[in-house]
Amino acid sequence: MKAPKTYTREDVVEIHCHSSFPVMEDILAEVLNCGARLAEPGEFTKRAFLNGRISLSQAEAVIELLKARTRKGRDLALSSLRGELQKEIEKIRNAFLSLKAIVEVAIDFPEDDVEILDDRALRGKAQKEIITPLERLIAAFYQGKIYREGIFLLILGKPNVGKSSLLNRLLKEERAIVSSVPGTTRDTIEECINVKGMAVNITDTAGIRQTEEEIEGIGVERARTKIVDADVVIFLLDGSQDITSEDYSLYELIRAKPLLLVVNKIDISTSDPHEFAKRFPGHPLIPVSALRNIGINELEQEIFNLVTGGKDWDPGADCVPNMRQTTALKGTLAAGYDFLEGLADRLTPDLLALDLQAGLDCLGDIVGETTTEDVLDVIFQDFCLGK
Ligand code: GDP
Repeated sequence: MKAPKTYTREDVVEIHCHSSFPVMEDILAEVLNCGARLAEPGEFTKRAFLNGRISLSQAEAVIELLKARTRKGRDLALSSLRGELQKEIEKIRNAFLSLKAIVEVAIDFPEDDVEILDDRALRGKAQKEIITPLERLIAAFYQGKIYREGIFLLILGKPNVGKSSLLNRLLKEERAIVSSVPGTTRDTIEECINVKGMAVNITDTAGIRQTEEEIEGIGVERARTKIVDADVVIFLLDGSQDITSEDYSLYELIRAKPLLLVVNKIDISTSDPHEFAKRFPGHPLIPVSALRNIGINELEQEIFNLVTGGKDWDPGADCVPNMRQTTALKGTLAAGYDFLEGLADRLTPDLLALDLQAGLDCLGDIVGETTTEDVLDVIFQDFCLGK
């Protein structure tokens, strides 16, 4: 295929063959023999970016598309790929540029200072065209993250309450080892499920408790760290037994987290699960039987409700920045605030212009205009080979 109408804007040769591994290997060896070399991870997309075919945010959208775990995550990536984010950035950038032009006129004609720098007009423009859209984009990142990376859910409970069984139910397969000997889940196990379009990363932990046993101790330490990272915690209780001091001490570790009170083994329980809610008030209560597959749909619904506030949830924006872009957006926003503050403090136009330039520099980072080679390397390393 002749340049420039190719993915990288360079001449491209594609070789089509059938999928027998030895044949492909022979062809590859032959091509390498003729002087070709293997591509680095993400090299095709990197070349597409360097040759101006796509912006950096679009290149990142390609990675996100390849990694998308849910349809919503895919839609968000496609929207970035279409350049929706870039259009937003372009609007904000234009606002910075036109403010800078006004301020620079004031630098050139200091005697007309007061007239040119109409504070209220500048302030209004900065607020409407810079601060508000930036704040909206940054908020969209936190919402988009839920669909993109998923939420982190932790299943916590004393040994033998049925954590592994519940994990298996949620995964709909027998992955974790289930055993009736307390403490069989030695380490943490992580899996990802799809709950109503939302990726949920589940961690099942060794029961957090004081233990002499060293190997389990390692699992316990990890679990403590996991509590900090978790977005939602399932506090699992054994419905067939009374609450113990171990349950209470576990609860103390997690009571401040968004919590679901899940009472398991209701198939063999004689007591009313609502009795448990009285002891641990203020959290949604879901009675389940991991063994008999009772209450699992309700549990999934409650996980969703807890994360989304029960609303039919949508990130709202078409364009949702990723982590790197959000960091740059935050830098831009800080520059925007500095500019507003500078206006309020009646700083000289040359200082105001510096704030505006700082904002422009941060924005340049997002689309890749001012991005350094090392940052580019890190971004493209995230790709797999052949993309
Ligand atoms: P963990 O130590 O918390 O991971 O607990 P496991 O998932 O290994 O389960 C411990 C024991 O409880 C196993 O014998 C399970 O079969 C049993 N168990 C788990 N869930 C239920 C349930 O809903 N009902 C009944 N009757 N037994 C269950």
